[in-house]
Amino acid sequence: MIDFFSWTLVDAKEWAVYEGLKAFRGQQVFDALHRNFAQNFDDIHVLPQELREKLTADGQLLPATEHTRQESADGTVKSLLELHDGCLVECVSIPTETRHTICVSSQVGCSVGCTFCASGINGVTRDCTAGEIVYQVLFHHQRRPVTNVVFMGSGEPMFNYDNVRQAIAVLCDQRGIGLGKRRITVSTSGVPDRIRQFGHDEPQVTLALSLHAPDNDTRSQLMPINRRWPLTELLSAMDDYSQLVNRRMTIEYVLLKDVNMSTEQALQLAALGKRYHAHINLIPFNAVGSSAHDAPSDAEVLQFSNIVRDNGGIATLRGQRGADIDAACGQLAIKKGGKKLDC
Ligand code: SAH
Ligand code: SF4
Repeated sequence: MIDFFSWTLVDAKEWAVYEGLKAFRGQQVFDALHRNFAQNFDDIHVLPQELREKLTADGQLLPATEHTRQESADGTVKSLLELHDGCLVECVSIPTETRHTICVSSQVGCSVGCTFCASGINGVTRDCTAGEIVYQVLFHHQRRPVTNVVFMGSGEPMFNYDNVRQAIAVLCDQRGIGLGKRRITVSTSGVPDRIRQFGHDEPQVTLALSLHAPDNDTRSQLMPINRRWPLTELLSAMDDYSQLVNRRMTIEYVLLKDVNMSTEQALQLAALGKRYHAHINLIPFNAVGSSAHDAPSDAEVLQFSNIVRDNGGIATLRGQRGADIDAACGQLAIKKGGKKLDC
């Protein structure tokens, strides 16, 4: 099966030439996917019938079909997509008056295994291809033009670095959706060398660091990746990154009752926010099944965020979009019996 959605316009033209076709045939295929939302090769009427038949015989056009859909009263739509090999990934469409943000998955499952996150429960099955990432966006783009993309679904984007970068290139292709790089956010649990590399390769894309604890012990307890790359190494990479990139980054911080919400931790978080001129996103824990964690009360959330703000942190509380559906990372995929069907 050819991964048509992983191509920029230039790639599509190169494919056509490689196939012994005129380059404009590649452009016709690209336009059919990104502008006309063709569902199969027969929909691409501008292609000669013989070529359509050949491509149909080679395999299907779309890399995924919708397996399950949940619609929230606030307009959030969470789709579980079934990939060609039966693997399941979720993508979420979050509309507001002025924006349409898509949250995409970069891997099937996740190898990191943070204690509060459903995506890591069964480990990782495989990386998503660039086309599978692009398709998660196009899938929702048909309904309403997409304005922003966040890599905050399942998977660790820095462990699928090349495909994530290729997907960004396709999404930013002017002939397609033409997203501005500044409208894309890549979230990472913290892979120091990749963060440095990312600052070099994609200085315009927003980086979000999933910090979740400002002290090494708590972070290691919540995020196994911190045992491999402790906080001092991560912060050193963040120092290098912020030297390289003159752009506000985001720090994500899931609020877990009695774990990472002490006054001391609020003060440390505020200090780190100032160190990186970061925007701190406080996210009340969304309970996953029989989780080991509890969600904090509204009063506890307010108290913590006030301490962060009063000490110079620029913090916002993430609204609970899609609270009536399984909108937290990995939740729908887990509910549907694990990360995959039969791959
Ligand atoms: N692996 C990357 C990107 C995907 S996870 C990373 O960890 O950054 C992105 C975000 O999902 C995490 O930062 C965390 O904020 C959020 N998340 C995961 N599980 C959650 C839960 N149970 N409740 C609230 N937010 C959660
Ligand atoms: Fe993986 Fe991110 Fe979930 Fe941690 S929070 S398990 S890194 S997807």
